[in-house]
Amino acid sequence: MANLHSNFLCPLPPGLNHAVTREIGGHEREGRISTGADAGGVVSGHMIRKLAIIVSAFAATAILAADSGPQRKILFFSKSSGFEHAVISWKTGQPSFVEKILLELGKKNRWDFTFLKDGTNLNKAYLAQFDAVIFYTSGDMTVPGTDGHPGMPPEGKQALLDYVRGGKGFIGTHSASDTFHTDNESQRGPDRFVNHGDKADPFVRMLGGEFIKHGAQQEALIKVINPQFPGFEKIGAEFSFLEEWYSLKDFTPDIHVLNVIDAPSMKGDEYKRPPYPVTWARNEGKGRVFYTAMGHREDVWTNPTFQEILAGGIKWALGDVKADIPPNIQTAAPEAYVNPPYIEPKSRAPKKQ
Ligand SMILES: [Zn+2]
Repeated sequence: MANLHSNFLCPLPPGLNHAVTREIGGHEREGRISTGADAGGVVSGHMIRKLAIIVSAFAATAILAADSGPQRKILFFSKSSGFEHAVISWKTGQPSFVEKILLELGKKNRWDFTFLKDGTNLNKAYLAQFDAVIFYTSGDMTVPGTDGHPGMPPEGKQALLDYVRGGKGFIGTHSASDTFHTDNESQRGPDRFVNHGDKADPFVRMLGGEFIKHGAQQEALIKVINPQFPGFEKIGAEFSFLEEWYSLKDFTPDIHVLNVIDAPSMKGDEYKRPPYPVTWARNEGKGRVFYTAMGHREDVWTNPTFQEILAGGIKWALGDVKADIPPNIQTAAPEAYVNPPYIEPKSRAPKKQ
């Protein structure tokens, strides 16, 4: 692998060689990091940010500022064993669109991100270095699947659950709910529309809900349930986005609902159901879990309301801000367990004799 240092042709300000070498040293220890992000499977956002700062010629002061005071370490895992979203793709050889947004949020909040797609080392010891983990994933994380990056080891899933239950933070965005489906439901058949309750996959129970299906992208009306929760203080009683809205099921009964989607006003069979939660928080053991179904589109990631909600959720999941999260699904979305009807796709319909 090319030495990162040699890739930077601009002259470095005096005294900064050491800083760069130190970062590259970290790179070499990891052994699988590349700034191009196209071959390895791990990129430290901290490194990218620092290198970018150096190039900007404000290096000396900026690096000092970035190094002072405590930082929170967050793992962003964006492996796609199922559908790979464009906003998390490394195909351009650059950090993904989402990773660039996270780096911006990280600068404002002193969050040091590590970007990961290779699940090989996702075990207890690896996870222990992080204060929180964000999943923007899809499918079965133990197999290479769509993006070809190695999956988590078999014990990795349990290690993740133990990590959260032990008191850490977990944040799921968008297709995190399309991950580790109950009974490996890869087909969108009738089972996909059934609630499994206690028999749902432990990851689904931890996350708090499971993706069923989505319809056409459209603007939907989203109600804010708890304006006191971090990130919701300034965004008003409701908002609407153009987004690929997930129809969700199997909500863990103890979730604290933060957003409810006005499904009855939407177009498409997937939304023929009463209003249901699309953002929530819950405790898993001693840990804090935050999920939002939003995050498909680039212009959602750049939307200030979404960023407020996400940043608030991350702060809460880190334990840096507190909030009461009593279970409220019975009042916030009393018919949330009513799922949309399963409609046999025309291509799958049995041939009539
Ligand atoms: Zn999507």
